Amino acid sequence: MLKPFEVHVQARSLECFQPELTGAEWAALQASAAQARDRLAGHTFWNVNSTARGGGVAELLPRMLAYARGAGVDTRWMVVEGTPAFFRITKRLHHALHGSRGDDSPLGPAERACYDEVLRDNAEELLVLVRPGDVVLLHDPQTAGLAPTLAAAGARVVWRCHIGCDTLEEEVVRAWAFLAPGLAAVRLAVFSRAAYVPPLLADRSVVIPPSIDIFAVKNQPMAPQVASAILGHTGLVALAPDAPDPVFIRTDGVPARVSRGADIIRLGSAPAPGAPLVVQVSRWDPLKDPVGVLRGFALLLRESPGLRADLVLAGPSVTSVADDPEAAATIENVTAVWREQPRFLRQRVHLASLPMVDLEENAAIVNALQRHATVVVQKSLREGFGLTVTEAMWKSRPVVASAVGGLQDQVRNEVDGLLVRDPEDLPAFAACVRRLLEEPVLAARLGAQAHEHVRVRFTAVRHLSDLVALLEELDARAERSD
Ligand code: UDP
Repeated sequence: MLKPFEVHVQARSLECFQPELTGAEWAALQASAAQARDRLAGHTFWNVNSTARGGGVAELLPRMLAYARGAGVDTRWMVVEGTPAFFRITKRLHHALHGSRGDDSPLGPAERACYDEVLRDNAEELLVLVRPGDVVLLHDPQTAGLAPTLAAAGARVVWRCHIGCDTLEEEVVRAWAFLAPGLAAVRLAVFSRAAYVPPLLADRSVVIPPSIDIFAVKNQPMAPQVASAILGHTGLVALAPDAPDPVFIRTDGVPARVSRGADIIRLGSAPAPGAPLVVQVSRWDPLKDPVGVLRGFALLLRESPGLRADLVLAGPSVTSVADDPEAAATIENVTAVWREQPRFLRQRVHLASLPMVDLEENAAIVNALQRHATVVVQKSLREGFGLTVTEAMWKSRPVVASAVGGLQDQVRNEVDGLLVRDPEDLPAFAACVRRLLEEPVLAARLGAQAHEHVRVRFTAVRHLSDLVALLEELDARAERSD
């Protein structure tokens, strides 16, 4: 019998935002908090997804939950349990919603039966917890099928889709057909951009882009020497002789050290602490196109062997992300392509699996890597919304991203980063990376503007107020239908 489990999140006060906001913004945030308490009085705001670690949703949820709880709203997080067959189907749906065929496996009656059965099991436990009038926010295709059962129990069910495709391609239509029975029961759907809203949800969708938490371990301030020391201790760069301690501050305010190493595939030694790094941090997923990044970088170095730069492709250690069955095959594939490269390239390209045993330690390593990077890239073939890009932009890094999906809303080309129009265009990608490596003034200007853009559009403050507006919309719709 499969059962969801709860992830407990400590409340975090909104007070930390006060110094970052104007008086009016701070008052608006407090008014939003009061409104949320009011609208949810006596009810719980549930979030249900399918993994507690790895990937954007698992990054976003605990941060938003912590602030909601800090604002006095009873918010809880449940993670459904699945079988390997279930996660294969949901990964297939994930690809299809991005317009991609994934492993091309069928999405027929057998898959539907497996999907429904896993969610039926999970629903049993949820029904013990969820009370009539509670709001349940289901995340992504893995949980959409829970909607009818929870709605029948009197919950106000909202489905949030973190992925999407700008055009209604054949695969996308197939995914929507699979998900339609579940989605018939949702009152509202949330998408990261308007172009993702499918016809079947056109009358009940809102757009809320994700956000980053600027106070998370992942984004907390870090001196350049400390970033370098953390990377030195994990083996990602050579450790400088005078390096300070590799320390970060945990969410509870207690200092900690990074002590675990990354699992790295490279030829020869680690890059020197001062060597410019081109970095992509992502789950090991073919849609993040790590092979394309490697090939684009190889092209760049073949054209300019004298260019000083190393490439780091980093992702979570492969066994760690529960709902992502493709990670091992993806890293094997990248490694195979790496092995085909000439020796000088294998010395300059580093494939790193980051330790995930302690998620805050992992976040500190990602933080250090993004801050230490000379250029951060996200060469995704598809992307719902790329948190890694917003994280890097917050750190004033110049980014090169593909002009796909949500990345187009996150990066304004030539204003706060560079966009590559065709994600498969390796020469264009290589040219953008080269520009940022060779033009430090441009890189600094884009980085500074990137930080400001994130501050205004993509922090938790904006996101929390959007979620309060969502509650308002739910109530308004309920009144209209009464
Ligand atoms: N991430 C991480 N450790 C890793 C690799 C990735 O914490 O080793 C995080 C990354 O910093 C980001 C999230 O996972 O916060 C990935 O989110 P994104 O929206 O970029 O992609 P998704 O995984 O949701 O497709």
